[in-house]
Amino acid sequence: MDNFVMKKALFLDRDGVINQMISYKGEFDSPKKVSDVKLVEGVAEVISWLNKKNIPVIEVTNQPGVALGKVNWKTLEAIEKSIHNLLVKDGVRINKVYRCFHHPKAILLDFKLECNCRKPKTGMLIQAAKDLEIKLSESVLFGDNATDIEAGKRVGCKTILFLHTNDTPEKIAAKQNAEPDFKVYSHKEALTILKKLLK
Ligand SMILES: [Mg+2]
Ligand SMILES: [Zn+2]
Repeated sequence: MDNFVMKKALFLDRDGVINQMISYKGEFDSPKKVSDVKLVEGVAEVISWLNKKNIPVIEVTNQPGVALGKVNWKTLEAIEKSIHNLLVKDGVRINKVYRCFHHPKAILLDFKLECNCRKPKTGMLIQAAKDLEIKLSESVLFGDNATDIEAGKRVGCKTILFLHTNDTPEKIAAKQNAEPDFKVYSHKEALTILKKLLK
């Protein structure tokens, strides 16, 4: 059985961790157009280390923009593609992406449901673990919201919370009460921790 080794992985939230949150009329949100896509400083260095170590980098992201009528599918997909293109330009890649398009308050009825994938629910993490044979207890979740940390803790991952203030006041307040294993203020700090947790 020794040759069958369950992998460890990094679960990476998208908005606010891979790409920057954007201020629209004073309110921070996910980018709503391709020209607003900017990577967070240091994210390529984080992913680069994992790529070199052959540790899967898995994006797990709530994307209710279409459900809420904020963007159309075409734009949503163009934004996602643009993020990955910028990463590729920096010589790094994300191995797999899991997205939840649902929202309990969706205006598009097809997406208005209490799914099991929207973080803090664990559906995307569980599915990824099945698909890629990942050992969750040896994996790490890196996110910038209380809901990310909650999802990670529920499946037994180590959790790292990125504290930045580019977010709605409610989310910033929720973050203060989250109980991650580690809190960081930069991706440089996160990388130092990841090197210890995933070595
Ligand atoms: Mg986020
Ligand atoms: Zn969902």
